Amino acid sequence: MQTTLIIRDDDTSFFTSPDLLNRVYGRLLSEGIPISLSVIPAHNANVRVAHRPGSPFDPSIPPSYRGRNQDYPVTQNQALCDFLQDKVQEGLLEVCLHGFNHAYMEFDMSDTERVEQKLREGRTILSEAVPEAPIETFIAPYDKLSPEAFETVLKVGYHLSTRPESVPPDTFPQPIPDYAHLAHPYGRSIFTCEEYIFTHRDEPADCLARIKERLAAQDFLIITNHYWSFFYDWKGPHPLLDAWDQLVDELLSNQQNIRFTTFQQYQVSS
Ligand SMILES: [Zn+2]
Repeated sequence: MQTTLIIRDDDTSFFTSPDLLNRVYGRLLSEGIPISLSVIPAHNANVRVAHRPGSPFDPSIPPSYRGRNQDYPVTQNQALCDFLQDKVQEGLLEVCLHGFNHAYMEFDMSDTERVEQKLREGRTILSEAVPEAPIETFIAPYDKLSPEAFETVLKVGYHLSTRPESVPPDTFPQPIPDYAHLAHPYGRSIFTCEEYIFTHRDEPADCLARIKERLAAQDFLIITNHYWSFFYDWKGPHPLLDAWDQLVDELLSNQQNIRFTTFQQYQVSS
């Protein structure tokens, strides 16, 4: 069975060094395998994760910045912008819009004017950061959208990658599959991805076993990572990175059975 695979990585921002992205994805990129990178236009450094015990800071913010109530535009990280621009020009990266400043549950709001403003301002920053990137896919921080934000994102013209729970019940027949490509009436696509398989919260061997299981069973799969998980908590390589490297070995040796694509390319070719 051939599997269509999209690799999505969330939370690239002003705080991201291209070295970290290269460490995780360099071997895939150098084999011509593309990644859909979800980029935060202006990450705020004072975001806390309210659903976790003790409301810790968002782990995508490096410890030295945590607590500063300031938005950091990605355009101020020139090394990252150069890296993104190069990879986009080589056709290896899709730049996706990942909210505006990654505030907690940023798009779980019903104020559609505010949603449109965030989309507009976020797009302006990303277009300045990576002028050659066609920005066509939206990913909500924490994968959570209100029904109003869901509708607005599609109406404005984005494809959407999200968890099945964020697809409003009146939009598609339930249950929404864990991994699916759904064609929306506006002509946009919705890609569902139920789980973050590689996470520092689980045993690396279990993460690897689970992903192999999905690869064997699914003909369409999205792997959603957070690059910072592989270096959790900004302390250098985490054991999770070894498990990921083992998966990369497997993907590279099994290329004939996998169709690697991005959200954007999938539209064009399917
Ligand atoms: Zn995020």
